[in-house]
Amino acid sequence: MTTSGTEQLRTLAATVPTSFGMWESGVWADAADSETLPLRDPWTGEQFTTVPSAAPADVDRIVKNARAVFDSGVWSRMAPTERGRVLIAWADLIERDADRLAVLISREMGKPVHQARDFEVTSAVRNLRWYGELADKLMDDSPRGLQDAVALVTREPLGVVAAITPWNFPISLAMLKLAPALTAGNSVVLKPALQTSASSLRLAELSSLAGLPDGVLQVVTGRGATVGTALSRHHSVACVTFTGSTEVGLRLLGDSAVSNGKPVSLELGGKSPNIIFADAPDLEQAVRTATWAFTFNTGQMCTAGSRLFVERSVYDEVVAGVCDRVSTLTIGDPLDPGTVLGPLSSRNQCDTVLEFVKSGVREGATLLTGSEQALDEERSLVAPTVFVDTDASMQITRAEIFGPVVCIQPFRDEDEALRLANDTDFGLGASVWTRDVSRIHRMARGLDAGNVWVNSYEEGVPSTPFAGRNLSGNGADKGTYGLEKYTQLKTTWIAL
Ligand code: NAP
Repeated sequence: MTTSGTEQLRTLAATVPTSFGMWESGVWADAADSETLPLRDPWTGEQFTTVPSAAPADVDRIVKNARAVFDSGVWSRMAPTERGRVLIAWADLIERDADRLAVLISREMGKPVHQARDFEVTSAVRNLRWYGELADKLMDDSPRGLQDAVALVTREPLGVVAAITPWNFPISLAMLKLAPALTAGNSVVLKPALQTSASSLRLAELSSLAGLPDGVLQVVTGRGATVGTALSRHHSVACVTFTGSTEVGLRLLGDSAVSNGKPVSLELGGKSPNIIFADAPDLEQAVRTATWAFTFNTGQMCTAGSRLFVERSVYDEVVAGVCDRVSTLTIGDPLDPGTVLGPLSSRNQCDTVLEFVKSGVREGATLLTGSEQALDEERSLVAPTVFVDTDASMQITRAEIFGPVVCIQPFRDEDEALRLANDTDFGLGASVWTRDVSRIHRMARGLDAGNVWVNSYEEGVPSTPFAGRNLSGNGADKGTYGLEKYTQLKTTWIAL
């Protein structure tokens, strides 16, 4: 991947088209009534492009296209080796366009451009290649030793998959849906978050260049309540795969219930505990990582380590270390390659985060660093914020804030650490820092979360599942685990 200088990145930023169409059957398309919606750059506040505002009639047309393409067999019955070749070619094109995509993501939601390139694009490419390489290695089953019969247990694609995705990691998370759903042979209609529609549209355009047949992947843009609901209630949508807030995720279950009972796979919010014991192998690394865990992506991360629990004997040291580290983070223009912390994704998001900070102060927590005011309101810049003297009754310890805010709390022993960590409605990530092998296993067993990291945070490879439980979701993305939900089982019994 190339490393472009600031000037080159700004030149690329200036080349973003002033309007996008939807990606429908391999071409750019307007909404039937030609309505559009503006996308604003959170750093400059300027409108930089527009996307179509689809109506339910547009969604219906696009879903019908998708179903017709599925039934044609052009992708659903394509030889798996050939399917894999197309997906790998797509990954190559995304990698080729890494800078262009990274700049677009920066403009859409304020992510520092180097993070957009080195995390977002890299992750999308890695996962897509992994599924592309898997495409012709999947096997069906047949039980052994049946008398006078052969039973074939096969997995078939579902038909039309609707993927609804959030803005915080716009293309890497979209790819965790698209790659497995396409590998399985489905047609996909993607509804990206309105704010980050442009990068998803570019992704789809590249899929066509790679040879994905027209209509296999389409992108429909517009407001979530309109487009998302039209998809989740559509009778020809066979499955909804969703990443986003718990509130919307739960609503999708209701949409399924009042339409065709389609399966709905949910990857939702979190309030992840990060637990540091005094015997952490490297306390400095634990502090560095704990700081990263609540500030990466300006805290707009489902697995943000927003509740930090520290064993009493090292509590003061860790608190001081975290406050020191946040003071060194470079906050500013996301297009500047030196920026570590960009703006929040919008003024709304900025206001929401500041309201949480105010509620923390109101409820009696101590604000050690950070402020109830924005660093720069026009640019939605919020300082990393550290609270102590918190307890589990406060809004800041219970709700997903989605900003660079951490609550640090001391604990006495393992039992108390586990009790505090599990005192949440969510169950997404959890991290433990200790060198005691028995404690590692006890804690990993006891933590009520889909992902437990030991002496690390937010690690994984394409083959490991990423799953949430409780109000963090009901499914798993990544790996072969993330593929199964895009298939349906069939048993064919052949009497001999
Ligand atoms: P969101 O508001 O729930 O939006 C997610 C998607 O749903 C967007 O495409 C949105 O479209 C659409 N939508 C909104 N209302 C809808 C409705 N009534 N019916 C159907 N779709 C609807 O979430 P977000 O603010 O984009 O993302 C942040 C949330 O995602 C956080 O809670 C975060 O924890 C969660 N998240 C979870 C994971 C995970 O893997 N567990 C990963 C990342 C993020 P519009 O944008 O057009 O409204």
